[in-house]
Amino acid sequence: MERQFTKEIESLRLGDGETFHGEGILAVTKALLQSGVSYVGGYQGAPVSHLLDVMVQARDYLDDLGVHVEACTSEASAAAMLGASINYPARGAVTWKSIVGTNVAADALSYLASAGVMGGTLIVLGEDYGEGGVVAQERSHAFALKSLMWLLDPRPNLPTIVEMVERGFELSEASSTPVMMELRIRACHVKGSFITKNNEQPAVSTRKKLDGPPEEFVYERLAHPPATFRQEKLKSDVRLPAARKFIRENRLNEVFPGNEDSIGIIVQGGLYNGLMLALNTLGLADPFGATRIPILALNVVYPLVPEELIEFARTKKAILVLEEGQPEFIEQEIATCLRRADVQAKLHGKDVMHMAGEYTAEAMVRGLSKFLGQHIPHLDTSSGFSWLQHVESVRKCAGELLGTLPQRPPTFCIGCPERPVFSAMKLVAQEVGRPHVSMDVGCHAFASFEPFSQGNTLLGYGMSLASAAGVGPMSSKRPVAIMGDGGFWHNGLLSGVASNLLNRGDGVLVIMKNGYASATGTQELISSPPEEARDAAAGQSAVHADRTIEGTLEGMGVKWLRTVNNYRVGEMAKTYKEAMTTPEKGLKVIVAEGECQLERQRRLRPLVSRQLSEGKRTLRVKYGVDEDTCTGDHSCIRLSGCPTLTIKDNPDPLRTDPVATVIDGCVGCGLCGENAHAAVLCPSFYRAEVIQNPNLWDRLVSKIL
Ligand code: SF4
Ligand code: SF4
Repeated sequence: MERQFTKEIESLRLGDGETFHGEGILAVTKALLQSGVSYVGGYQGAPVSHLLDVMVQARDYLDDLGVHVEACTSEASAAAMLGASINYPARGAVTWKSIVGTNVAADALSYLASAGVMGGTLIVLGEDYGEGGVVAQERSHAFALKSLMWLLDPRPNLPTIVEMVERGFELSEASSTPVMMELRIRACHVKGSFITKNNEQPAVSTRKKLDGPPEEFVYERLAHPPATFRQEKLKSDVRLPAARKFIRENRLNEVFPGNEDSIGIIVQGGLYNGLMLALNTLGLADPFGATRIPILALNVVYPLVPEELIEFARTKKAILVLEEGQPEFIEQEIATCLRRADVQAKLHGKDVMHMAGEYTAEAMVRGLSKFLGQHIPHLDTSSGFSWLQHVESVRKCAGELLGTLPQRPPTFCIGCPERPVFSAMKLVAQEVGRPHVSMDVGCHAFASFEPFSQGNTLLGYGMSLASAAGVGPMSSKRPVAIMGDGGFWHNGLLSGVASNLLNRGDGVLVIMKNGYASATGTQELISSPPEEARDAAAGQSAVHADRTIEGTLEGMGVKWLRTVNNYRVGEMAKTYKEAMTTPEKGLKVIVAEGECQLERQRRLRPLVSRQLSEGKRTLRVKYGVDEDTCTGDHSCIRLSGCPTLTIKDNPDPLRTDPVATVIDGCVGCGLCGENAHAAVLCPSFYRAEVIQNPNLWDRLVSKIL
């Protein structure tokens, strides 16, 4: 696991009147317990992984409370888990990364929203939108609209986030509807504090069990026709008005008054902090939140409450709606609402702000300047203009400086077991030509950058083999699909392998069996090595202890199946070439086995430092380059891309080409030696054993040598 949450787990025990300090996403974990949640599940993904990680690590404490925790195998299973709240007064919460996770969960969510819930349900979405986002840039809002599920977007501060979790359950129960709460990256990682309450005993729990299913069979609770027709009407005729009543009566949305009340700003709660920074830059707000422009902050972005909008806009001549992303769902709904009520305030939004992309403080300063310039030109906003000019000049200067630096694309960790596989593929491509490569979501997607530049499509988690289905029959060369073990269990097994077998497909599938869902923080999988097989001193093939992936593939009928140690580049290249060229028909699967180096080093480093502090002998392997032998052609670097294999000035004054060198971070994975051998590179690499606290024998050998 990426992090130990010992301190955070202690914070879960805080009671009435104590103070929680920490990040937004961790405040959610405490708020769930304060809300009497009965069960928690989810699928990891930034920026909400920590929620589930903490819950999983706190299992002992949660067992005491009777709260069930489930590390689900996909977002679909997490969404389906919420089915427990349809028939029982059990509050449930699940989490995943959106938009991708919501796509995966969509089927179960539709049915859940149709049936409605008895116990409150909360779906915590990591809204990975904007700068730093790593998935397709879409909004979860669309899912809320199509299924009529409510969507919270709390102001990014801990008290508001916590209140929205607690109120979210109540809203869900008051309107029999699942509630989603979107948290952007900045909201998840915002630091702060809030005053805690005692954790609430769940109404139903592993310690307060149900006697059985409901005595009376209630057909209406099944999302199945003809019940679905009534449920569709209930959504708009009963649940929606109930939700609006609850939101209004409990003041979930907030109005911040200002003396320039001829205009106003309606903002998604999640953008509030950026807006305050922008207003402060323009000289229209202080750093503590006092604003000159009235603001309506929507902590609930769906449904909107018409009375609140009308009340806010009725006496104003102009309103600016700040809504990130496209299309402008909120702005359109506000326009309809105001028009129907014959409110004459002029409506602005996407006419002064950009349609696609994050609303940074800079973007808001620009948009606000246009809006204010049109409607209250007497305001002095020159400080904003000067700030924008300063930002421009810094950007220009940085651009000039960066222009002279070499690009540094993101890459695999030092010693990553996936790197050698791509080295082998690169070598084989020289012989058999470049195939079509379908990439997948996971660390291996780093191979799309230099020096490998592999990958023609990327269509979702576990979807690589499925996305090659149409390419294979039309190609003279076998297509290759790359998949991690995380992706394999998430979706690849059924969407890819089963479909390929059903259709008697061909092609090559490389499964990176590194042991964990590494890209999201090394969460465990069904095929993760058992604890006892993770001895830090063990070799790099610790993952071989479990053969679930191979067993599953064999059971499904995969005939051509090889497991290869990733670091054996020559063997990997030979196996891959055979897969690409064998006349045998059918799916060829290579299980590339090697434990995630990041996870391995997390275990190894504390062990080594303990041994050193105890004066014990330690040995580590490091590779190096003999600078006299290095030819300076850098083919080793083009074949590896390891950040610790780099260049330095040539010490020979008669040669100008820089030589290759291995710097300190080398973890001795062995790829340098393997590549030199497999690609018949110059013989400049050497393997060194670095011994600390040497024993007598080591000293003797050292003297002799
Ligand atoms: S996290 Fe693990 S699998 Fe991912 S790049 Fe790093 S070493 Fe490789
Ligand atoms: S042996 Fe080579 S590839 Fe492996 S960590 Fe060291 S420098 Fe990097």
